[in-house]
Amino acid sequence: MLRVALPNKGRLSEDVKQLFDDAGLPIRGRSERSLRARIGDYEALFVRAQDIPEFVADGAADVGITGWDLVTETNRSLTQLLDLEFGRCRLVVAATEESGLTQLAQVAPGTRVATCFPGITRRFFELRGFAVQVVPVSGAAEIAPHLGIADVVVDLTSTGSTLQVNGLREVETVLESSARLVAREDAANRTETKDLTLALSSVLRARGQRYLMANVPREGLAAVRECLPGLNGPTLSELMGGGRFVAMHAVVPADAVFRTVARLQGLGCEGILVTRIERLVP
Ligand code: AMP
Repeated sequence: MLRVALPNKGRLSEDVKQLFDDAGLPIRGRSERSLRARIGDYEALFVRAQDIPEFVADGAADVGITGWDLVTETNRSLTQLLDLEFGRCRLVVAATEESGLTQLAQVAPGTRVATCFPGITRRFFELRGFAVQVVPVSGAAEIAPHLGIADVVVDLTSTGSTLQVNGLREVETVLESSARLVAREDAANRTETKDLTLALSSVLRARGQRYLMANVPREGLAAVRECLPGLNGPTLSELMGGGRFVAMHAVVPADAVFRTVARLQGLGCEGILVTRIERLVP
């Protein structure tokens, strides 16, 4: 049975749960503290997001979902199967407003850099020829400059508000991150891994699309085709009894629905119906 390591709590865990639910793989019967559960044909292990890259690399699990920042930090060789798009954040170099530091070039030799990501930080500065002193911390790196234990931080940010509240200014992006489905190389080609990747990717693809149905006047078909941004189609079918209208079905990007519905109505369409799609396999 394929073992899947999933975050047991924290920022990514709710989104992971929702994704599996949407893929028809609900996580059931798991008590708050249990580390294992059956999800369909898979065995799920619930562990800390930070431990997932090592667990997968070492064989305790075959695949896992965790932040790309955490995968990169461990520097283990894992195959990335899917970008899950949630948990989006950036790892950035930030300095206090008072330091006057606005560019990486101003980072002086010996600068102390506080971070929960010492591996990534060392590699980042080494690669650019900066001799900094990395100060590893296990959390709240943003207060390190105010405590006098560092001059600069390398920290995660999504909205930027935590940096701002702590009087820090972003200087440079080190890494763009989001939750990823990763596998050990030998597990990446297993059928169960491919099935899971397909299930999750079909949910992600469906989230960005809507199914649109409308009755279109025959004389307006060409104009309607013009205003549909979708990939294929639309599909047309006859209404019972024939008449002026034909039924049209199309898949359209969610962010285009607002405009498309208004245009269809303007072209004389009736019975316009928009629904969510659960899964979409191209
Ligand atoms: P956790 O510590 O379990 O809450 O998970 C932290 C992970 O969530 C990080 O390693 C990132 O992959 C992700 N994440 C997404 N946005 C942020 C953010 N603004 N700050 C910290 N972590 C974030």
